Amino acid sequence: MTDNLALWRFAYVLPNMLACFGMAFVAMLVWRFRKQRGGLLLWLVVVTAAFWSFGEGAGFIGLPPGGILFVWKIGYFGVALTPLITVLFAIEYVGYGHLLTRQRIATLFALPVVTLLAAWTNEWHGWIWATVKMDYTTPIPTLANTHGPLLWIYAAYCNLMALVTGGFLARHLGELQPPQRRQIYLLIASLALPMVANGLYMMRLVPMRNMDLTPAAFIVVVVVFIRSLQRERMFELAPVTAHEIYRSLEDAVFVVDDADRLQDLNGPAHRLLPPSPYENIGQPLAVLLPQAQELLVSAAGEHRGEVALGEQFYDVRVAPLNNADGRFSGRLLVWREITERKQLEAELRRLATTDSLTGLLNRRHFLARGAEEIDRARRYGQPLSLIMVDIDHFKLVNDNCGHEAGDCVLLALTGILNAQSRASDCIGRLGGEEFALLLPQAGIAAALQACQRLLDAVRAARVVIEDGSQIDFTVSAGVTAMQVDDITMSALLRRADDALYQAKREGRNRLVSA
Ligand code: GH3
Ligand code: MG
Ligand code: MG
Repeated sequence: MTDNLALWRFAYVLPNMLACFGMAFVAMLVWRFRKQRGGLLLWLVVVTAAFWSFGEGAGFIGLPPGGILFVWKIGYFGVALTPLITVLFAIEYVGYGHLLTRQRIATLFALPVVTLLAAWTNEWHGWIWATVKMDYTTPIPTLANTHGPLLWIYAAYCNLMALVTGGFLARHLGELQPPQRRQIYLLIASLALPMVANGLYMMRLVPMRNMDLTPAAFIVVVVVFIRSLQRERMFELAPVTAHEIYRSLEDAVFVVDDADRLQDLNGPAHRLLPPSPYENIGQPLAVLLPQAQELLVSAAGEHRGEVALGEQFYDVRVAPLNNADGRFSGRLLVWREITERKQLEAELRRLATTDSLTGLLNRRHFLARGAEEIDRARRYGQPLSLIMVDIDHFKLVNDNCGHEAGDCVLLALTGILNAQSRASDCIGRLGGEEFALLLPQAGIAAALQACQRLLDAVRAARVVIEDGSQIDFTVSAGVTAMQVDDITMSALLRRADDALYQAKREGRNRLVSA
């Protein structure tokens, strides 16, 4: 008979203590993930669950009624806190921690804390345990209670929280990769199982009367947690939902409906919109961001374009959004800032097309522009002229006054060329001290006139160099106009060069027309 009693006592104590030690073991495993998202919360879950199991188990070791009540009260740290902390953990672990503001957490904790306080002061009101008395009809003497009103309310609260959290976890299952999806299945199981066990106990549908079945369910949860940590690499492979990716994207994302009204946007997208006193959601995007207009009117299907917003440049991708049934429901606009890239491109273009000393077009780019101008002039039947200019005896400037003085002369001539030309003219530095001017819409007479003005300006110019001395210089020029059979720049250049050579031979400081 005493053997039997000891056996029964063992049967009552064992599952609870197994759960208690199991949870303590998991707490040790989880501790190293405490810095990870949800890590500390899971640690708290298993620690409070260990309290719960301890309180339940210690009630069966043969304590007097007052002692049992006391260990129950210790266990109530677990009863009151485990469910809510589990919910908080689940929310944080799947990436919705930002929803858990201090205020919301405080609100959620109100009922559990009241429940815990009520358990400790139960003698005064009986809200948790309405009646408590020893039950000698069970195989070992146990303390029996009837559930007080607050306990029922609290149980309903926990079930509701678990349901909401479970639904919320399940909602994003489709967005996850298989390993993380398995973690969520296990998480839902470890949320559901204790709830079911506790429900059975509350309804008195348990095999061992007066024993809360929840810690027994915790044994399974311990196994599930160990499996999650080791096989499914919980915390190492945190679940990342599509929504979370969307929120943490550096790119600005706008979602518009089929009438191009703003439906949703992420943080960076908020910053692109002008601060507005009224709600932006529901407004036509083209009204909020006129720069987006063109992208929205253009073709259906996926396309992209570049948009300038003030100083900033964006590469915008527009992709159609379809419902699950394939029907068009709106569009997604992803704005990636490319200002730096645009600036680099512009700088590279500048370096590739201009001469570093004078800032004029370099030879290659001048020839390319020349080819375009020839095409245009031929297409519209307009005249086009070319002037080639070479500084006279430039070697002497370098030899007598130094290379830097030579550079000053080159810059002085550049200034004169810029001042004497029109905006539509192309000015290039073809070589060391050889320049060319392309004059669209100018016939030979206009070109000669322009060239004469240029030569006069050069004669009048004085270059003052570093030591204060002045340098006078002159140039020779060859002028030519486009002929009917000139289809390339080289023909024009050759004629202008010949004329220039002739100007040099004839004594320099003059122009010759080809
Ligand atoms: P000509 O009247 O026949 O044109 O005589 P020139 O001395 O001007 O002709 P040449 O072509 O023999 O000399 C051109 C000189 O220009 C040679 C070169 O050292 C100098 N030069 C070329 N590029 C630069 C430059 O970027 N800076 C300076 N300071 N000199 C340059
Ligand atoms: Mg020269
Ligand atoms: Mg030369």
